[in-house]
Amino acid sequence: MTRILLIEDNASLAEFIGKGLKAAGFGVDGFGTAEEGASAAESLAYDAIVLDLGLPDRDGIDLLRDLRRRGRRVPVLILTARDDIDDRVRGLDAGADDYVVKPFAMKELSARLRALLRRPGAVLGNVLSVANVTLDTVARQLMVDGQAAALSRREFDLLQLLMRAAGRVVGKRAIEDKIYGFAEEITPNAVETLISRLRKRLASSGAALSIHTMRGVGYLLKE
Ligand code: CA
Repeated sequence: MTRILLIEDNASLAEFIGKGLKAAGFGVDGFGTAEEGASAAESLAYDAIVLDLGLPDRDGIDLLRDLRRRGRRVPVLILTARDDIDDRVRGLDAGADDYVVKPFAMKELSARLRALLRRPGAVLGNVLSVANVTLDTVARQLMVDGQAAALSRREFDLLQLLMRAAGRVVGKRAIEDKIYGFAEEITPNAVETLISRLRKRLASSGAALSIHTMRGVGYLLKE
């Protein structure tokens, strides 16, 4: 499920947006302060963030700048007041991807979010999602159903390779080339061993993904 982080301090507006996004098929976590929002953004790989700029404890633009400074490329849509063009400009300068002006229709917000999620950045970018599995390739964090799960460096690289292939078979040779360095001695069954370790990790963390062996060809990741 596509997960949205909503940071909005106005309780009734937050409820309205939360309900609307859920009805549009998104998973939503809502927080009313910049501090809570920032720590949620750090701990989970959200697909997008809806950010109000006027928050009680800290300017939303500050929070956004912080995220970008730390290399987080998650799409961010800011909510701004109708008469505040400066806010919009400051927000976009700070790294927002889009904005919606209050008051807005829920339909508009959902449509804008979908457009953001369709951008190549979200598809080819830093956060990969298949089934209940999200891979944040910047933070190098695997999440299954929103829970962090551990992977070794090579298991992570392999999963990323398979997820980026998105339903195509990845050859054994391609895996060797991408995962192992030039100077590394690769034993004949290194890839098989790594695949089998990754399969166990995925199974034990409850990931709804499986890795199929296409005999003589390579491997295919399936939901
Ligand atoms: Ca506010």
